[in-house]
Amino acid sequence: MEFRDLKAQYQHHKDAIDEAMIRVAAGGTFIGGSPVAELEQALASYVGAKYCISCANGTDALQLALMAWGIGSGDAVFVPDFTFFSSGEVVPLVGATPVFVDVCEDTFNMDPESLENAIRHVSDQTDLKPRVIVAVDLFGLPADHHKIREIADRYDLLVLEDGAQGFGGKIGDPSGSFSRACSFGDISTTSFFPAKPLGCYGDGGAVFTDNGEWADLLRSLKVHGKGSDKYDNIRIGLNSRLDTIQAAILLEKLKFFDEELVRCDEAAKTYDALFTDLSSSDLRIPVIPEDYTSAWAQYTVLFKDETLRTRVMECLKAEGIPSMIYYKKPMHLQKAFEGYEEIQPRTGSGDICPVTTEICGRCLSLPMSAYVTKEEITTVVRTIEKALTT
Ligand SMILES: *Cc1c(COP(=O)(O)O)cnc(C)c1O
Repeated sequence: MEFRDLKAQYQHHKDAIDEAMIRVAAGGTFIGGSPVAELEQALASYVGAKYCISCANGTDALQLALMAWGIGSGDAVFVPDFTFFSSGEVVPLVGATPVFVDVCEDTFNMDPESLENAIRHVSDQTDLKPRVIVAVDLFGLPADHHKIREIADRYDLLVLEDGAQGFGGKIGDPSGSFSRACSFGDISTTSFFPAKPLGCYGDGGAVFTDNGEWADLLRSLKVHGKGSDKYDNIRIGLNSRLDTIQAAILLEKLKFFDEELVRCDEAAKTYDALFTDLSSSDLRIPVIPEDYTSAWAQYTVLFKDETLRTRVMECLKAEGIPSMIYYKKPMHLQKAFEGYEEIQPRTGSGDICPVTTEICGRCLSLPMSAYVTKEEITTVVRTIEKALTT
């Protein structure tokens, strides 16, 4: 069994993907060219953003956004404590200070109340200037963007949506219309790392915005701070382009992406139903709030405690079933962020992000993709059931 079945995906769409790769090889244009421009247009229209700027990976995408806004020394950037390292790594990279915000136990996403406390803490207790909220769509589920937007407006902050895992996710409203992930930030980003909801065959990423001035800046920053051309350099930038071959692959994959999202949703429903039949209080299935649609980058359950999770992992491993702990460590406990401990907000009892710390000991992600079968899901659930009852 595969954790994220990329081989099955390739086998299903082999002819179209092979042709796309060969077209690029035969055409001889490996950087830029029409596939990149075409992909940017297709992605912008898919997401519902005015501009899409492709780049080399999802981490660069986040860094480029902070650079375009001129975020740097003396600025505070609010980042969820429960996320992949990149969401926070880019903050010190541009010279700013990461401030970690706790998450909600049910959605795994940033807790608006904890966010507001963190903003007040920075304003009242430090010399830093609150500037940006990094709103991560963790495991495919869009963050609580409505509440985060309210808070951003109240404190005059920018929202950077990290949609690396959220691409394809949606938030609807009672009227039946919806907005897609990567349209919620002032700038939004995504990653095309192979295992993400929309993955390419290597590294890739994109930045989205409705602001034309920022879009121009981002286009310059991603190519060595270019001015009128590549050899006219008017600012310090990066070398962060999406390869032509990756753009061509992504254009093919975009054609069946919605169908894959539906299949992931069906797989999640199959897991949910089987786990609900178990009706064990030792395990909690993912919580998707009303009007939200997840892109199912991960299907992550929460066990009663760490001992139980360890036992389940061992049983799964013995049956050859892959599972992963996303994430083992809160951001604030990563060695790389050691120097920022002093300024972190604490709860009344003196803890930094206690919900995240707790979740890190109990979470487990299970095999999930558009190609995981009902039989495989049944095997996973039966194995976990055995582990829970012995
Ligand atoms: C994967 C990921 C990134 C970084 O994307 P890369 O393309 O690997 O650089 C950023 N944020 C989150 C939440 C991610 O999961």
